[in-house]
Amino acid sequence: MTERADAVLQILAGGRTFKERVMIVVAHPDDETVGMGAQLCRLGDALLLQVTDGAPRDGRDAAARGFASTADYALARRAELHAALEAGRAEGVRTEIVGVPDQEACLNLETVTEHIARRLRQEAPDAIFVQPYEGGHPDHDAVAFVVRAAARLIASDGRSPPAIIEMTAYHADGPRLATGTFLPAERPVTTIELSCAHRLRKRRMIDCFTSQRDLLAGFATEVERFREAPEYDFLEPPHPGELHYERLGWGITGEIWRRHVRAALEALGLR
Ligand SMILES: [Zn+2]
Repeated sequence: MTERADAVLQILAGGRTFKERVMIVVAHPDDETVGMGAQLCRLGDALLLQVTDGAPRDGRDAAARGFASTADYALARRAELHAALEAGRAEGVRTEIVGVPDQEACLNLETVTEHIARRLRQEAPDAIFVQPYEGGHPDHDAVAFVVRAAARLIASDGRSPPAIIEMTAYHADGPRLATGTFLPAERPVTTIELSCAHRLRKRRMIDCFTSQRDLLAGFATEVERFREAPEYDFLEPPHPGELHYERLGWGITGEIWRRHVRAALEALGLR
Protein backbone atom coordinates (compact mmCIF):
# COMPACT_ATOMS: atom_id res chain seq x y z
CA MET A 1 0.00 0.00 0.00
CA THR A 2 1.26 3.53 -0.66
CA GLU A 3 1.99 5.74 2.34
CA ARG A 4 -0.61 8.26 1.21
CA ALA A 5 -3.35 5.60 0.97
CA ASP A 6 -2.41 4.22 4.37
CA ALA A 7 -2.71 7.69 5.91
CA VAL A 8 -6.18 8.21 4.38
CA LEU A 9 -7.45 4.82 5.55
CA GLN A 10 -6.17 5.54 9.05
CA ILE A 11 -8.07 8.84 9.19
CA LEU A 12 -11.23 7.02 8.05
CA ALA A 13 -10.80 4.19 10.55
CA GLY A 14 -10.05 6.63 13.39
CA GLY A 15 -13.24 8.63 12.76
CA ARG A 16 -11.26 11.86 12.41
CA THR A 17 -12.11 14.92 10.33
CA PHE A 18 -10.24 15.33 7.05
CA LYS A 19 -8.25 18.54 6.92
CA GLU A 20 -6.66 17.34 3.69
CA ARG A 21 -8.22 18.27 0.36
CA VAL A 22 -9.89 15.35 -1.37
CA MET A 23 -11.79 14.66 -4.57
CA ILE A 24 -14.65 12.21 -5.02
CA VAL A 25 -15.40 10.98 -8.53
CA VAL A 26 -18.58 8.95 -9.06
CA ALA A 27 -20.80 8.11 -12.01
CA HIS A 28 -24.28 9.07 -10.77
CA PRO A 29 -25.99 11.25 -8.18
CA ASP A 30 -26.48 8.81 -5.23
CA ASP A 31 -23.26 6.76 -5.75
CA GLU A 32 -21.40 8.97 -3.25
CA THR A 33 -24.18 8.44 -0.68
CA VAL A 34 -24.31 4.66 -1.14
CA GLY A 35 -20.51 4.37 -0.98
CA MET A 36 -19.49 6.94 1.63
CA GLY A 37 -22.54 8.94 2.72
CA ALA A 38 -21.64 8.72 6.40
CA GLN A 39 -18.14 10.11 5.77
CA LEU A 40 -19.13 13.20 3.79
CA CYS A 41 -19.70 15.37 6.88
CA ARG A 42 -16.08 14.69 7.90
CA LEU A 43 -14.58 16.19 4.75
CA GLY A 44 -13.36 19.73 5.31
CA ASP A 45 -12.48 20.46 1.69
CA ALA A 46 -13.80 18.12 -0.99
CA LEU A 47 -14.78 18.38 -4.63
CA LEU A 48 -17.46 15.89 -5.68
CA LEU A 49 -17.46 15.27 -9.42
CA GLN A 50 -20.50 13.58 -10.96
CA VAL A 51 -19.44 12.18 -14.32
CA THR A 52 -22.96 11.59 -15.72
CA ASP A 53 -26.26 13.40 -15.33
CA GLY A 54 -28.06 10.21 -14.24
CA ALA A 55 -30.59 10.37 -17.10
CA PRO A 56 -30.21 7.77 -19.89
CA ARG A 57 -30.95 9.30 -23.28
CA ASP A 58 -33.41 6.60 -24.39
CA GLY A 59 -35.86 8.24 -21.98
CA ARG A 60 -37.19 4.96 -20.58
CA ASP A 61 -36.07 5.62 -16.99
CA ALA A 62 -37.37 9.20 -17.12
CA ALA A 63 -40.79 8.06 -18.40
CA ALA A 64 -41.01 5.15 -15.95
CA ARG A 65 -40.50 7.60 -13.07
CA GLY A 66 -43.06 10.09 -14.36
CA PHE A 67 -40.78 12.75 -15.87
CA ALA A 68 -41.75 14.53 -19.10
CA SER A 69 -38.19 14.58 -20.45
CA THR A 70 -34.66 13.35 -19.76
CA ALA A 71 -33.73 16.97 -18.96
CA ASP A 72 -36.39 17.12 -16.22
CA TYR A 73 -35.20 13.78 -14.87
CA ALA A 74 -31.56 14.94 -14.81
CA LEU A 75 -32.62 18.12 -12.99
CA ALA A 76 -34.56 16.12 -10.40
CA ARG A 77 -31.58 13.86 -9.77
CA ARG A 78 -29.39 16.93 -9.25
CA ALA A 79 -31.89 18.36 -6.76
CA GLU A 80 -32.00 15.01 -4.92
CA LEU A 81 -28.21 15.07 -4.62
CA HIS A 82 -28.23 18.54 -3.08
CA ALA A 83 -30.97 17.54 -0.63
CA ALA A 84 -28.94 14.44 0.36
CA LEU A 85 -25.76 16.46 0.90
CA GLU A 86 -27.71 18.83 3.12
CA ALA A 87 -29.27 15.94 5.07
CA GLY A 88 -25.75 14.50 5.44
CA ARG A 89 -24.32 17.85 6.65
CA ALA A 90 -21.71 17.65 3.91
CA GLU A 91 -20.83 21.33 4.30
CA GLY A 92 -17.26 20.92 3.08
CA VAL A 93 -18.30 19.28 -0.21
CA ARG A 94 -18.44 21.30 -3.42
CA THR A 95 -20.17 19.68 -6.40
CA GLU A 96 -19.49 19.70 -10.11
CA ILE A 97 -21.22 17.82 -12.89
CA VAL A 98 -19.28 16.70 -15.95
CA GLY A 99 -22.62 15.97 -17.61
CA VAL A 100 -22.06 12.94 -19.82
CA PRO A 101 -25.39 11.13 -20.48
CA ASP A 102 -26.07 8.20 -18.15
CA GLN A 103 -24.84 4.84 -19.55
CA GLU A 104 -22.52 6.70 -21.99
CA ALA A 105 -19.41 7.34 -19.90
CA CYS A 106 -17.52 4.65 -21.82
CA LEU A 107 -18.12 6.61 -25.05
CA ASN A 108 -16.35 9.62 -23.54
CA LEU A 109 -13.36 8.10 -21.72
CA GLU A 110 -10.77 10.35 -23.34
CA THR A 111 -12.51 13.67 -22.67
CA VAL A 112 -13.53 12.70 -19.14
CA THR A 113 -9.96 11.57 -18.34
CA GLU A 114 -8.64 14.92 -19.56
CA HIS A 115 -11.26 16.76 -17.51
CA ILE A 116 -10.28 14.86 -14.35
CA ALA A 117 -6.56 15.33 -15.01
CA ARG A 118 -7.19 19.09 -15.34
CA ARG A 119 -9.10 19.16 -12.04
CA LEU A 120 -6.36 17.09 -10.36
CA ARG A 121 -3.77 19.66 -11.44
CA GLN A 122 -5.93 22.54 -10.15
CA GLU A 123 -7.07 20.95 -6.89
CA ALA A 124 -3.96 18.88 -6.06
CA PRO A 125 -5.92 16.63 -3.66
CA ASP A 126 -4.22 14.23 -1.24
CA ALA A 127 -6.76 11.53 -2.03
CA ILE A 128 -9.38 10.73 -4.61
CA PHE A 129 -12.34 8.51 -3.75
CA VAL A 130 -13.74 6.44 -6.57
CA GLN A 131 -15.86 3.42 -7.47
CA PRO A 132 -14.31 -0.01 -8.14
CA TYR A 133 -13.97 -1.86 -11.46
CA GLU A 134 -16.45 -4.69 -11.00
CA GLY A 135 -18.90 -4.94 -13.90
CA GLY A 136 -21.86 -3.61 -11.89
CA HIS A 137 -22.57 -0.61 -14.13
CA PRO A 138 -20.60 0.46 -17.23
CA ASP A 139 -20.44 4.06 -15.91
CA HIS A 140 -18.97 2.91 -12.57
CA ASP A 141 -16.29 0.97 -14.44
CA ALA A 142 -15.64 4.01 -16.63
CA VAL A 143 -15.09 6.14 -13.52
CA ALA A 144 -12.58 3.59 -12.16
CA PHE A 145 -10.76 3.79 -15.50
CA VAL A 146 -10.73 7.58 -15.97
CA VAL A 147 -9.42 8.23 -12.44
CA ARG A 148 -6.55 5.78 -12.90
CA ALA A 149 -5.79 7.15 -16.37
CA ALA A 150 -5.88 10.77 -15.12
CA ALA A 151 -3.52 9.87 -12.25
CA ARG A 152 -1.12 8.38 -14.81
CA LEU A 153 -1.33 11.56 -16.92
CA ILE A 154 -0.45 13.84 -14.00
CA ALA A 155 2.31 11.47 -12.88
CA SER A 156 3.81 11.85 -16.35
CA ASP A 157 3.95 15.66 -15.71
CA GLY A 158 6.18 14.82 -12.72
CA ARG A 159 3.44 15.53 -10.13
CA SER A 160 2.76 13.13 -7.32
CA PRO A 161 -0.65 11.53 -7.86
CA PRO A 162 -3.20 11.34 -5.05
CA ALA A 163 -3.98 8.15 -3.14
CA ILE A 164 -6.80 6.40 -5.02
CA ILE A 165 -9.29 5.03 -2.49
CA GLU A 166 -12.28 2.91 -3.44
CA MET A 167 -15.74 2.91 -1.92
CA THR A 168 -18.18 0.04 -2.57
CA ALA A 169 -21.02 -0.10 -5.11
CA TYR A 170 -22.48 -3.36 -6.49
CA HIS A 171 -21.53 -6.31 -8.69
CA ALA A 172 -22.72 -9.75 -9.80
CA ASP A 173 -22.26 -12.56 -7.33
CA GLY A 174 -23.34 -15.58 -9.36
CA PRO A 175 -27.02 -14.95 -10.19
CA ARG A 176 -27.50 -12.41 -7.41
CA LEU A 177 -26.37 -8.83 -6.86
CA ALA A 178 -23.79 -8.14 -4.14
CA THR A 179 -23.89 -4.67 -2.54
CA GLY A 180 -21.55 -3.07 -0.04
CA THR A 181 -18.62 -5.44 -0.66
CA PHE A 182 -15.62 -5.50 -2.99
CA LEU A 183 -14.59 -8.20 -5.43
CA PRO A 184 -11.52 -9.94 -3.96
CA ALA A 185 -8.16 -8.18 -4.53
CA GLU A 186 -4.76 -8.07 -2.89
CA ARG A 187 -5.67 -4.99 -0.86
CA PRO A 188 -6.63 -4.75 2.81
CA VAL A 189 -10.18 -3.47 3.34
CA THR A 190 -11.00 -0.90 6.02
CA THR A 191 -14.51 -1.53 7.36
CA ILE A 192 -16.18 1.28 9.27
CA GLU A 193 -19.10 0.30 11.50
CA LEU A 194 -21.62 3.12 11.51
CA SER A 195 -23.10 4.24 14.80
CA CYS A 196 -26.86 4.37 15.20
CA ALA A 197 -26.87 8.13 14.59
CA HIS A 198 -24.71 7.78 11.48
CA ARG A 199 -26.96 5.04 10.10
CA LEU A 200 -30.02 7.19 10.62
CA ARG A 201 -28.37 10.11 8.90
CA LYS A 202 -27.28 7.93 5.98
CA ARG A 203 -30.82 6.54 5.70
CA ARG A 204 -32.17 10.12 5.59
CA MET A 205 -29.68 10.90 2.81
CA ILE A 206 -30.75 7.81 0.84
CA ASP A 207 -34.40 8.79 1.30
CA CYS A 208 -33.69 12.08 -0.51
CA PHE A 209 -33.22 10.12 -3.77
CA THR A 210 -36.95 9.61 -4.25
CA SER A 211 -36.60 8.77 -7.97
CA GLN A 212 -34.26 5.87 -7.08
CA ARG A 213 -36.29 4.48 -4.17
CA ASP A 214 -36.71 0.89 -5.45
CA LEU A 215 -33.05 0.57 -6.45
CA LEU A 216 -31.67 1.92 -3.18
CA ALA A 217 -33.93 -0.14 -0.91
CA GLY A 218 -31.45 -3.03 -1.20
CA PHE A 219 -28.49 -1.08 0.21
CA ALA A 220 -27.69 -1.65 3.88
CA THR A 221 -26.37 1.12 6.16
CA GLU A 222 -24.50 -0.83 8.83
CA VAL A 223 -20.97 -0.37 7.46
CA GLU A 224 -18.94 1.48 4.82
CA ARG A 225 -15.88 -0.16 3.31
CA PHE A 226 -12.77 1.36 1.73
CA ARG A 227 -9.50 0.14 0.25
CA GLU A 228 -6.70 1.41 -1.94
CA ALA A 229 -7.65 0.86 -5.61
CA PRO A 230 -5.92 -2.21 -7.08
CA GLU A 231 -3.78 -1.83 -10.25
CA TYR A 232 -6.51 -3.08 -12.56
CA ASP A 233 -5.96 -4.33 -16.08
CA PHE A 234 -8.97 -2.67 -17.69
CA LEU A 235 -8.42 -4.70 -20.87
CA GLU A 236 -9.42 -7.83 -18.92
CA PRO A 237 -12.91 -8.51 -17.50
CA PRO A 238 -13.29 -7.64 -13.79
CA HIS A 239 -14.40 -11.19 -12.99
CA PRO A 240 -15.17 -14.41 -14.88
CA GLY A 241 -18.73 -15.05 -16.06
CA GLU A 242 -21.54 -12.66 -16.91
CA LEU A 243 -21.22 -9.07 -15.68
CA HIS A 244 -24.19 -7.55 -13.87
CA TYR A 245 -24.78 -4.87 -16.51
CA GLU A 246 -24.75 -7.45 -19.30
CA ARG A 247 -28.04 -8.73 -17.82
CA LEU A 248 -29.79 -5.39 -18.09
CA GLY A 249 -30.43 -5.28 -21.85
CA TRP A 250 -28.67 -1.94 -22.36
CA GLY A 251 -26.83 -3.15 -25.45
CA ILE A 252 -23.44 -2.89 -23.79
CA THR A 253 -21.23 -5.87 -23.06
CA GLY A 254 -17.89 -6.09 -21.29
CA GLU A 255 -16.28 -6.71 -24.66
CA ILE A 256 -17.67 -3.48 -26.15
CA TRP A 257 -16.70 -1.57 -22.98
CA ARG A 258 -13.11 -2.86 -23.19
CA ARG A 259 -12.93 -1.88 -26.86
CA HIS A 260 -13.60 1.74 -25.80
CA VAL A 261 -10.88 1.44 -23.14
CA ARG A 262 -8.38 0.19 -25.71
CA ALA A 263 -9.15 3.17 -27.97
CA ALA A 264 -8.92 5.64 -25.07
CA LEU A 265 -5.54 4.25 -23.94
CA GLU A 266 -4.24 4.75 -27.49
CA ALA A 267 -5.66 8.27 -27.77
CA LEU A 268 -4.27 9.31 -24.38
CA GLY A 269 -0.83 7.83 -25.13
CA LEU A 270 -1.10 5.44 -22.18
CA ARG A 271 -0.63 2.06 -23.90
ZN1 LIG B 1 -24.25 4.51 -9.99
